[in-house]
Parts: sequence; C-alpha cells; structure tokens
Amino acid sequence: MRLTVVGYWHGYPEKGEATSGYLLEDGDVKLLLDFGSGVVSQLQNYCSVQDLDGIVLSHYHQDHQADIGVYQYARLINNGMNKRLKETTIYGHQDDEQAFSKLSYKNAVTSQSYQEGVPLSIGPFTFTFKKTMHPVPCYAMHIENKGKTIVYTADTSYFSGLADFTQGVDLLIAECSGYEGDQIAQYGHMTSEDVGKLAKQAKPGKIVLTHLPHAGEHEQLQQEVAKHFYGEIILARSGSQLTL
Ligand SMILES: [Zn+2]
Ligand SMILES: [Zn+2]
Repeated sequence: MRLTVVGYWHGYPEKGEATSGYLLEDGDVKLLLDFGSGVVSQLQNYCSVQDLDGIVLSHYHQDHQADIGVYQYARLINNGMNKRLKETTIYGHQDDEQAFSKLSYKNAVTSQSYQEGVPLSIGPFTFTFKKTMHPVPCYAMHIENKGKTIVYTADTSYFSGLADFTQGVDLLIAECSGYEGDQIAQYGHMTSEDVGKLAKQAKPGKIVLTHLPHAGEHEQLQQEVAKHFYGEIILARSGSQLTL
C-alpha cells in the first residue's frame, strides 16, 4: 500500500496547503483518511476527486472534515456532467448523530458508520478503531493490508491503551501538535515528548509526524522524538509518499 500526505496542518492550512488528509492506495483502490480544509484542492495533485472509493473520518473537528461539503458539491457537479466513475462512501462514527447525518448527500455520496473494536473491510484494507482522548469523540485507526500495518492516531493526548493499539505496526502516523514541555494534553493533543513515549512502548517500524503546529521549526519536533525512538522519523510534508 502507498500513503500520500495530502495535508498535515493542525487547525488551519498554511498558504496553498491543507489540514488533515492522507491518501491510501492499493492498486486502483483509493481511500482518504480525514478530509480537512484545503484537501479537495490538494488532492487533485494526486488523483481526481471522482477517483476516491471511500473516506474514513476520525472525528468531526473542522481540521479533519471541513472539506466534506466541498467534496459533496464536487461529486454532484461531476455526476451532473456524467463523469461519475465510482460509488463513494464516507465512513464516520455515530457518537455524534447530527454530524454523522450530514455525511451523505443526495445521490452524490453515501455514508456508513463504524464502531470501536469491530473490523471494517474496505476493499483490500481492514480497519479497526480505538477511541482516543480528545474533547469530542475521536477514533484512532489501525489499518491492515497484505500483512502490513499502519496506525493513524488521529487527534489524542497520550494514553497507555494507544501504545497497546499501536504495538509493532510498520508505520505510525502520529499527531504531534506541540513541542516538548507544551501543555496540550488538556486539549487532547500530543507533544513530541508524548509521541516519543508512545513510540518507545509501541516500537513501530517508522513514524510520520503530522498535525503539525504553526509555531517553531518542525525539525525540532523530529529531534525531540529522537530522544526516545531510534527508528526513522519523518516530518509530514505535502506530497510525502511512503510505500509499505
Ligand atoms: Zn480534533
Ligand atoms: Zn485536529
């Protein structure tokens, strides 16, 4: 499988970029993990908006779902021009019924809910979900494809159950919203030190740091995680690609 970082910013996108969005591909199957602001525009650097088979949302904060409405319009307009190629489903949790109810739209896109601990197969990918520590319900994702595994933490503060969930994965996509010493656990986010602690316990093959802050030099985050983890630590950038 191949992962492409479409967007990686915390909160809002910097100029010409996007907040959370990760394109996951195996052959012709294309999924998007989260769909923040700027993602519809940025996604078109890699594929057409009509090419997605599914979208999996971790939670309903805007930096993870703001472009869903934009995507619905894109589908509707392209369908009207008979460009429709694939059915698409948006997967989300139903802890927030109102937010979930807005995911499907006319005949452009359908929705389906997922539940913690219940495996969900989407094409060649198998997802399992774990609720994170965040001010609103949010789910980390464990993704398996042909014997390779990824965990995407989504938004969360550190907790030991996350280390269990992440144990031994090939790739950890970890939110890293702050620098060592920043007091952000109360907001449901991890610092570089927290990611280091998580990695030390879970021993992933490699880490991508994402959901990056608007302050400071991101290379410092890498250096701070490296105090705890000796494997490869990659800073998410628009267009970063990893093949597993
Ligand atoms: Zn959030
Ligand atoms: Zn976020």
